[in-house]
Amino acid sequence: MAERYGTADDISIHSINPVPSHYSDPDDDLDDDPSLNGDTNNPTRDGKLREAPTLPAAEAALRDIREFLRGIPRGKGGGYTPPQMDTFKRYRMDGMRSLLALYTNPLSKTYGKWGASSLQAALTLNHGRYCARQLCKLSRAYIYDRTVLPLNPYGDWNETMLVDEDLCTDVNAYLQEIGSHITAEKLVEFLTRPEIKEKHGITKKISTRTACRYLQALGYRFTHAKKGMYTDGHERVDVVDYRDNIFIPAWERLEVRMRNWKQNNVMECEPSTPGRRIVVWFHDETIYYANDRRRRAWYHKAAPAKPYAKGEGASLMIAWYVSADYGLMQVTSRDGKRSSRRVMKPGKNRDGYFTNEDILDQFQDAVAIAKEEYPDDDHVFVYDNATTHLKRPDDAVSSTKMPKFPKTWLIDVTKRDTLGQPVKKADGSIEKIKGRMRDTTFNGQPQALYFPNGHPRAGQFKGMQNLIRERGFPDIALKNAECKKPKCKDGVKDCCCRRFLYYQSDFVNVDSNLELLAKSLGVVVIFLPKFHCELNPIEQCWGYGKRLYRFFPESSREDQLEINALASLSDIPLDSIRR
Ligand SMILES: [Zn+2]
Repeated sequence: MAERYGTADDISIHSINPVPSHYSDPDDDLDDDPSLNGDTNNPTRDGKLREAPTLPAAEAALRDIREFLRGIPRGKGGGYTPPQMDTFKRYRMDGMRSLLALYTNPLSKTYGKWGASSLQAALTLNHGRYCARQLCKLSRAYIYDRTVLPLNPYGDWNETMLVDEDLCTDVNAYLQEIGSHITAEKLVEFLTRPEIKEKHGITKKISTRTACRYLQALGYRFTHAKKGMYTDGHERVDVVDYRDNIFIPAWERLEVRMRNWKQNNVMECEPSTPGRRIVVWFHDETIYYANDRRRRAWYHKAAPAKPYAKGEGASLMIAWYVSADYGLMQVTSRDGKRSSRRVMKPGKNRDGYFTNEDILDQFQDAVAIAKEEYPDDDHVFVYDNATTHLKRPDDAVSSTKMPKFPKTWLIDVTKRDTLGQPVKKADGSIEKIKGRMRDTTFNGQPQALYFPNGHPRAGQFKGMQNLIRERGFPDIALKNAECKKPKCKDGVKDCCCRRFLYYQSDFVNVDSNLELLAKSLGVVVIFLPKFHCELNPIEQCWGYGKRLYRFFPESSREDQLEINALASLSDIPLDSIRR
């Protein structure tokens, strides 16, 4: 791999054979280039990438690449509108153009010599043989298929796949075809169809999150039913049910007290209900990668003594809040003791990931800061549906592991000190002890889960059968503890004891730790429906911040990563959040 870091100085131009038969190192870094990677049937994959193209083919490609780089004619006024692309792509395409020109121009010293032309082209970019090989591959791939452009996989989403007009056209046609049933998942599925992948040279499966962004970029917006087009409907019953019966009604109750913003920071209208206004703070976590930009670069100039780690390298996780009214939340409280932002280095041997305790801790600080800064508003906090956010108290009622018949049965619960704070072990994890599940209520009546004192089985867990009988469903109490694998049928709520209890309203409506804390602090927490990341405007902040981040000087140092990442977030215009 050392030669990967080589520069033009360490090789002689004569070592380049015009027919690049020696370009055969198996791990030719081809994998680094997603625009060429993957299992498409591209015949250039096998063997042909090593061959020099014919002059006419190269000339034709040169014409096309020139035309592409020149841009679209402006019309009557003359001139051209240059194509929109990031520097990554521009750089590579300039290199390809040089290579093709050097190869096909009879006046060029490397006329007809493919390998030598590629090295010359690389030298004009101040790079060496690695770069030359990349140019060869890209150019050959381009000669075979004009849609193979040097895609930038880590750059701005709107400049990656969607820069390809043909692809945009196809995606739009598909979205129109499915009409009102557009989901991010469907777009993901569409982009993984073999024929689409082959046609557009797509090699990476996009995530649902990315699909959400693509939909945004294509002008799709997720909006309420009243505005017409929310049919996103991730069709899962529970998700739809949550969205329609809990999230949206909750949102609509609050919305009348929110300020409305339109573009250019103009307030569209005052809240329609008098009284205190509601500010909605969206919480989110994002990860910055130190080599985010390095990957965009196409040639690692770092010395071999400091090779860049494979994989993601150093990274930084940031969790923060944003509102349309005030932008990113004030970082520190006035006494300097609280912070609304959490920064963590994820991964092994580092800080680990955010736990529910971290989330609660941050939330407590954020509520205090929001109240301190904006005492005249009421505050609502929106979290996504991550398991870490939804965690319920350890002893909250749950049918998942309940035995059917009476027995001595305790569960793992957090050990707490006299102040109610969790007790931590030496390694920082939380100490667990055996304890009872908390009693519940049925039809407004308390229901104890354990037999009371004086009962022959005093202290034992009653078992699902007894609990169901006490609720007045003797027939269901006779059913099996649970359905055999695979599992219960969709939509059936009384197939077995476990499922029956699972859907009992007291089992369903257990407050999460976050909600319990919110209640105690006098604020509201709501959770976004699953798969609806596009509802969270903080996504735009991260996107904006990351674009800014790439302008900072490169550094693989972790401290620099933190400084740059935070600096990039400090300068996000409100306008980009209000839309
Ligand atoms: Zn069942």
